[in-house]
Amino acid sequence: MRDFTLAMYSKLCSEIKSSSYVPITVEEYCRGIGESLEKFIILRHDVDRKPDHALKLAQIENKLNIKSTYYFRMNPRVFVPSIIRDISDLGHEIGYHYEALDKAKGELNKAIMIFESELKKFKKFYAVKTICMHGNPVSSWDNKDLWSKYDFRDFGILGEAYNSVNFEDVVYFSETGRDWSGKYSIKDNANNAFREKISSTSDLINLIKRNRLNYFYVNTHPERWDDGMVSWSMQYMSQNLKNIIKLYIYHRKYNGSRKLHY
Ligand SMILES: [Zn+2]
Repeated sequence: MRDFTLAMYSKLCSEIKSSSYVPITVEEYCRGIGESLEKFIILRHDVDRKPDHALKLAQIENKLNIKSTYYFRMNPRVFVPSIIRDISDLGHEIGYHYEALDKAKGELNKAIMIFESELKKFKKFYAVKTICMHGNPVSSWDNKDLWSKYDFRDFGILGEAYNSVNFEDVVYFSETGRDWSGKYSIKDNANNAFREKISSTSDLINLIKRNRLNYFYVNTHPERWDDGMVSWSMQYMSQNLKNIIKLYIYHRKYNGSRKLHY
């Protein structure tokens, strides 16, 4: 079975559903719902591109009665109100995937104004309660640094998908570079030690089956999950190229040593 297809995502969701883990949204986690659960999996999606793919994943989850969180970037290709409405109608949480500090080229005062005005646009379609930084590997800013000066709670936001999660307890997985181990993550690399041996989605499914960890956090990028052979191969090739570039950036930036954010 090819990895990173909709069929594989379905398999992952079915496995979660039949496991002892309760799937929860980021908002539910921030409201403390996890505290009453023995085992949970926070399901998050960063919609960086191709929002139609996000809708496909949202439908797969909905069929299994799973709710998750979809973070949309604010740009004309990604912020498509009809898709945002469809996904929220399926019962999922919608959040704001902000990149205000990148857009403001590092100027905090300007960035907070961008943040506020983009959040307002989101709120026309959905009462956004959580936000998540977008990590652009080639920019020199970390969008989360906005909160070194400001407080997202002043904007009616309950939590931030990184800052509000206790990574001491919750083990984070993201399929950055089509690999769950985190070796291609530049800005998205919480608890790497746990992730090192988990490369394919089948590895992740087996980890869920083993039932040893209590709290998971699974983040996917919907544009990477594709059933069509041509687009799947294009994704595969462009991802391989991106991984080579990322490793190069890593090497230049950290001189080969890995810098952990958490
Ligand atoms: Zn992103």
